[in-house]
Amino acid sequence: MQNTQQRRVAFVTGASRGIGQAVAVGLAQAGYDVVITDLARQEADLRKTAGLITALDRKAYTYLADVSKKDEVDATVQAALRDAGRIDVLVNNAGILKLSLLQDLDEATWDAHFDVNVKGVLLMCQAIVPHMRARKSGRVINIASIAGRQGVANQGHYAATKSAVITLTRVLAQEAGMDGITVNAICPGIILTEMGRNNLGSDEAVRHWEEVAALKRLGTPEDIVGPVCFFASEQSAFVTGQALNVCGGIYFH
Ligand code: NAP
Repeated sequence: MQNTQQRRVAFVTGASRGIGQAVAVGLAQAGYDVVITDLARQEADLRKTAGLITALDRKAYTYLADVSKKDEVDATVQAALRDAGRIDVLVNNAGILKLSLLQDLDEATWDAHFDVNVKGVLLMCQAIVPHMRARKSGRVINIASIAGRQGVANQGHYAATKSAVITLTRVLAQEAGMDGITVNAICPGIILTEMGRNNLGSDEAVRHWEEVAALKRLGTPEDIVGPVCFFASEQSAFVTGQALNVCGGIYFH
């Protein structure tokens, strides 16, 4: 039986697979009940994530929503607050990456990346941070990318969105800190999810980046869990507005 005084609720977007699923399950292992969301087309996989959470004796609250649509975000957050009662931690994980040279990039692809990767973060924060402000406590954790720090060929539009996420992190940290809310970003390196594998494209590319990495391997979704739990926890109470590379040593700035 959970102690309601100590009950904590985390909210993870894009939680049907990859980093979002690992983070949702990792937060459940750390003792959180977890609100999980993803696009409607991912409903079956999202329910699998819910099953992994409930197998840990934590509650899973499951909603289908597109983070780039304000009406869907607002309705989902309202439903989550009604059903779960509180949101202590927001993990903005949902994101997209379609490779293209800047020269060839079409307008729709540019817009889609900024709608999901940047506006999605803004809309989620606008919906949830007021609830955190009212409680004078909260943790926002944005999943950015090392691409947003250094820029990567074929990912100019994606890298620009992730630079924007790092900037939004720094600004929201300044705007929400007085209400006991910390806002931090994680910059994963190459993580072997569907997105990570599509990005690399070949076994040769995997081997190349394994060789480049100081730790001589690429990341797994579980590698992102510890840093998320740190930013979610009291251990990071005096850390805000920061962006942490979690990349096995392929990028050092
Ligand atoms: P993934 O395997 O592609 O999973 C992303 C999830 O987000 C998918 O379920 C996807 O659904 C969902 N999603 C996409 N658009 C959405 C929207 N508008 N609203 C709600 N959900 C949406 O990606 P991942 O590798 O786990 O990446 C998770 C996060 O880490 C992303 O922000 C990504 O940019 C970041 N990241 C990943 C890597 C890497 O190497 N994997 C590196 C650096 C940063 P659909 O598949 O149906 O679109």
